[in-house]
Amino acid sequence: MAELSEADRLLLDGVRRGDAEAWRQLVSMYQGRLVAFARSSSRDPASAEDLVQETFLAFLQSLHRYRGDAGLETYLFTILRRRVIDQFRGRRPAESMSAAVEGQLRSRDPSPSFYVKRDEDITLAQRELVVALRAVVQGMQESQRFDDLLVLELLFTSALRNKDIASRAGVPEARVAVVKHRTLKRLRELVAGSGSTDSATIGTLPDDQSLAGLWRDYRLGCPKRSTIGGYLLCTLDEPWRRYTAAHLDISACPTCRANLDDLKAQTHSAVGQRLCERILNSTVGFMAAAE
Ligand SMILES: [Zn+2]
Repeated sequence: MAELSEADRLLLDGVRRGDAEAWRQLVSMYQGRLVAFARSSSRDPASAEDLVQETFLAFLQSLHRYRGDAGLETYLFTILRRRVIDQFRGRRPAESMSAAVEGQLRSRDPSPSFYVKRDEDITLAQRELVVALRAVVQGMQESQRFDDLLVLELLFTSALRNKDIASRAGVPEARVAVVKHRTLKRLRELVAGSGSTDSATIGTLPDDQSLAGLWRDYRLGCPKRSTIGGYLLCTLDEPWRRYTAAHLDISACPTCRANLDDLKAQTHSAVGQRLCERILNSTVGFMAAAE
């Protein structure tokens, strides 16, 4: 279930080899959106750059365990989110934070049930569900069924009732039930077709917390950063524009909002340059340890 882009894979290969230029590029590529997220979600926005600096350090320290199941951006945001939670709890991150981040990333569901179900079979079932969910999303995008995609996104990410979801998505209420039913059916077919997981793994939508958790944690409803850039520049087709706006405003996806803030702020590149230098200086001794 590789989600890494070719560009990310090349950068990672370089970082794992200890290539300082690859590390500089990786930091430069992701720091802005991480700072935007830290500023909006941290108890102390002034410490946002510190949190991001710590995030990159933790990334290097846990790199040997990173398998690329989640994209690089998702992985970095997961580490940062843990730092923000630690900050809210008023304590410094434990020494074993990297392992904790990895554990959270692999299971993707911080609910108590996940701690009980950590065996490899469940992880495999979750992976297959993510693959199936991705196929459902791709099918909707390719056939331009953005209203259905928006309904699905709201089913997974909002606590709205069907009636309100229909109203927000601009579809008849009966359509919400149809999308729910068809998605569940399609997921069952896809999982049954994969051969290794019992389709009973899929419960009911949207009550199944594992599906909603996977949707959120693997960011299955998130538009690409380039799409968010297009939204900012008003160059998207109307269906994509409407979906992206709803994802940012109704779902209030914190990661995509951070991307939007970062894209808006990119003109202020001097600040980013200074932080980039700071991160590179503070992590220089850890490049060898990342191997
Ligand atoms: Zn998003």
